[in-house]
Amino acid sequence: MRSKKHSTSLSFDRVPCPSQRQHCNLISCSGRFSPWIGRKTAVYCLRLRLREMPAEPESNTPAKIFKAARLLPIVLAVLCPEAGVAAPPVSVGLFRLFRSAVVEVETRRPLLIGIHDGTVHARKVLVEGQKLQVRLNAGKLATSLVESDEQLELWTRKESVTIEGGRFTLVIPGKIRRDFCGRLQVHASHDQLLFRLTLDEEVAVQQILRSEMAEAFELDALKAQAILIRSYLRTSRGRHSEEGYDYCDTTHCQFLAAFIDEQDPFQAAVASTTGWILTFQGKPFRPPYTAACGGQTLDRNHVSHSIYPHQSVRCIYCAGHPLFDWERTLERSKLFRALSEIRGAETKDMLAALATSEGTRSAELLKRRARRSVGRLYGWNIIPSESYSVDSSTDPAHIRGHGSGHNRGLCQAGAIKLARRKRSFLEIIELYFPGAEVR
Ligand SMILES: [Zn+2]
Ligand SMILES: [Zn+2]
Repeated sequence: MRSKKHSTSLSFDRVPCPSQRQHCNLISCSGRFSPWIGRKTAVYCLRLRLREMPAEPESNTPAKIFKAARLLPIVLAVLCPEAGVAAPPVSVGLFRLFRSAVVEVETRRPLLIGIHDGTVHARKVLVEGQKLQVRLNAGKLATSLVESDEQLELWTRKESVTIEGGRFTLVIPGKIRRDFCGRLQVHASHDQLLFRLTLDEEVAVQQILRSEMAEAFELDALKAQAILIRSYLRTSRGRHSEEGYDYCDTTHCQFLAAFIDEQDPFQAAVASTTGWILTFQGKPFRPPYTAACGGQTLDRNHVSHSIYPHQSVRCIYCAGHPLFDWERTLERSKLFRALSEIRGAETKDMLAALATSEGTRSAELLKRRARRSVGRLYGWNIIPSESYSVDSSTDPAHIRGHGSGHNRGLCQAGAIKLARRKRSFLEIIELYFPGAEVR
């Protein structure tokens, strides 16, 4: 006998996201929604539909719903491939600029320490109130466990020391003190200690985001920047492979700020974009970003072999930033000295290139080289960006320009302004990287 009641079945519809934002109210997926991003950055979300079914025997209905509910996580896992897919950890060389021969490790939670010499490995536990001190000693390591009452336990001339994993504070006495989370290996080089931190990619993204957008709290600007940082990490692995790690912790690669475990917009931006990177025609590429573009970004095609055709983008949103447009002066003698250090180019050709505001590719390359030479000799604030021109008919020479650094890719000040105007992170990325897709 069939019941007169109707039963229900579950089905999923892919529908345009009504809010064009990541967190709409259609269906949750591991704590967030899963967008599919088409060529025009349309955002789609999942809608769970409870469909009326023909009447069935009463006894079968709960079983059917239970069976469908059991399938729900499987379906969501298929639809959200990024969920639960962890990227391999990344490795970062720390504190290379300090060329330090001594380091101290402190902790608030018990840390397992490995002390290695050939095939002999000792294990110790570092606890709060103690300090692990590692010194360079004739090409090897002298390691001390310093108690709060300054009693020492010593291991001399070992090959390496490892913090097996967790949160700790790394201190170069009198120079720097910074928190990290991960696995730390300390080795001896000729005249300095080498620090190799292995950490989760998402932790690295969050630490870099904290330094890149330190003054920002606009969530969609932070999300856009988090995606760019993750894209950089994915496409630049092994940049320092000869030194034994993937990236350094300076602006040569990506500046790594202190590890902070707080429920704040930085953490939220990384958590809600976990695993997402920027792609073009299905392939990841390395996206540049700059503090402020000054109205127009430069294209990048003459300085990179990227698969993505970087375009010059007009951006009025960073107006008001101190580097939106700028003027500087430099004594002619200093300018000429900087130009004389550039090999393979005549000074008169250099001056002609520098005089143009809209230059050819070769002029742009010469301006780039001139900026580097001036920066190395007299400081990088003399010519803050690669978008500039020089009037060398006066002394001092007048330098006018706009924007900052390489002046390419995402304009951070513009992204912040757009996020304040309720533009989504996908819209921000679409503006600065037209045709790219987030995956
Ligand atoms: Zn580097
Ligand atoms: Zn801008």
